[in-house]
Amino acid sequence: MRKKIFFYYLILVVTGVSIMAFFMTKEAHNLYQNELEEKLIYSTKLIGWELLQNGREDEEVDYNRAAHEYAKILTGDNINTTITATRITFIDYEGNVLGESEADYRLMENHKDRKEIREAIEKGSGMDIRSSGTLKSKFLYIARSLPELGVVTRMAVPMIQVEKIDWDILKYSIVVFLAGIIITSLLAWRFSHILLKPIDALAMAMDEVSQGDYSTRVRYTKNDEFKALSDGFNDMAQKLEVSVVELKDKNAKVELILDNMINGIIAVDYNSRIILINSVACEMFDIESVKHALETNFIENIRNNQLNLMINETMTDDVTLVKEINMSVPEERVFRVYSSPIRASSGSVDKLGVIISIHDITKIKKLEQIKTEFVSNVTHELKTPLTSIRGFVETLRNGAINKLEVANQFLEIIDVEAERLYVLINDILQLSEIETMPKDVQIDDYLLKPIVEEVLSIVDEVARKKNITIEIEIPEELGIKANKNRIKQMMINLLDNAVKYNVDNGSIRIKAFHSKDGIVISVRDTGIGIAKEHLDRIFERFYRVDKGRSRDIGGTGLGLSIVKHIVNLYDGHIQVDSEPDRGTEFIVSLPDKCLFEEES
Ligand code: ADP
Repeated sequence: MRKKIFFYYLILVVTGVSIMAFFMTKEAHNLYQNELEEKLIYSTKLIGWELLQNGREDEEVDYNRAAHEYAKILTGDNINTTITATRITFIDYEGNVLGESEADYRLMENHKDRKEIREAIEKGSGMDIRSSGTLKSKFLYIARSLPELGVVTRMAVPMIQVEKIDWDILKYSIVVFLAGIIITSLLAWRFSHILLKPIDALAMAMDEVSQGDYSTRVRYTKNDEFKALSDGFNDMAQKLEVSVVELKDKNAKVELILDNMINGIIAVDYNSRIILINSVACEMFDIESVKHALETNFIENIRNNQLNLMINETMTDDVTLVKEINMSVPEERVFRVYSSPIRASSGSVDKLGVIISIHDITKIKKLEQIKTEFVSNVTHELKTPLTSIRGFVETLRNGAINKLEVANQFLEIIDVEAERLYVLINDILQLSEIETMPKDVQIDDYLLKPIVEEVLSIVDEVARKKNITIEIEIPEELGIKANKNRIKQMMINLLDNAVKYNVDNGSIRIKAFHSKDGIVISVRDTGIGIAKEHLDRIFERFYRVDKGRSRDIGGTGLGLSIVKHIVNLYDGHIQVDSEPDRGTEFIVSLPDKCLFEEES
């Protein structure tokens, strides 16, 4: 653009200067020639007047001598120098040359047919420019008749003088022309710069806008044609900025909503390319990032054929589908997936792709499974004592009631089974109560040792029967901030197990202390221990290492499950160390918030 303006400007100026130089040369040439002509006419008049004076005095005129004398006078300093080398010729009306300043007149041919001579004889004066046959160069001829003497005075100057003037003017013109070009070039460059400055500013602003800087504005203060352009640009940039901000805001909101959803969302176009995905979906399918997945092929990232088939079915059949999909990679998970076609607008038939919403129902499924298992376990656990009770009642009815000793024995068994039922139902109720509460209620400050001693009195009888020694290592001042009954429940279950699964003459050590994180309570026994393979499962409901033995000694299989739930209720954790035939240690760690220190 700048080059173009510069170039056109240059052409314009060069053309102007050329035309001016051309006309100036022409005008100067004409002016000089006219002046020369006038001077020659004037000289011929003077010569004529002189000749007439001389002619009257001595009748006879020596034209040749006169020609030489006049020529000498005219070529001298008194006369204008531009007409130096003036040639003077005298010709009679017959065309005979009577005298000549530059050549031998006697050798000169008849001049009657010369244009200027002819005109002078006919009209009084004549003029011509041509090459001289005598002097072989171009001359300006001016002739004037002198009727009183019957002679024509002709004066000639070489045109070389006029041509010299032409050449001088041309030289000056070339100098002016070159100077003009240099000055013009500089001016054109400056001019194009001034002219393009606002355009450059506009181009720069546009570039910045295209790079994403929508706050860019063109500052232009002059009130000319460009003002409207810059105002228009600024207006457009401002609207664009507002639109982009709104768009970004909307996008950010959509992204925020998508990322805060608990469901995975994926949208694909009709070429199965991912056009939208949220971070939940990325996490579900082990995809590095949203950016990583966008614009890539669905099946390349989410290697799940069931999902792929579901998307294809939604696309081809144009239907909304709901399916449960099992995933094993990156981990075992169950998803409920809803897929629907994306339409250009509501009610439109134009379909843009498919959107799927993925709900992780792994936990729900697990809970459902746990519930089912729990119900079947409870049913089973209840059935056993009930069947036993009904069996003995039936036997009694059938006559055993009459045998007092047998009847008492049966009633004893029925009592034991009823007790077992009671304990079982009690455990189930406790478990369901703890399970359903988000955090414990009726929390107060208690000293731990008295609670443990209270619990000991419950298990004491059985312990004594097995000759088990019990050792307590709990600081007197160690306090606990909790629901007393819950801590009692926890300790009963742990101590009951420590007694139940202990050997005769065994021992139990109950230890509690204030750790750096809170309170640690440990119950260690010297009992039968637990094999390694069972350690992970003993906290599950109804899990028993030895079913028969547990049931025989009155276990429900719910004790440790209750303990674990109580510990969880206080954000603590439980750990078990055990070795078969050597003993078991349960270590409960409760956080700092459960610690209560008595003010001394
Ligand atoms: P149970 O009512 O059968 O005792 P728990 O939930 O209290 O049920 O315990 C689950 C199982 O863990 C028990 O059946 C038993 O096999 C094992 N267990 C629990 N505590 C001990 C312990 N102190 N020593 C050895 N085994 C234990």
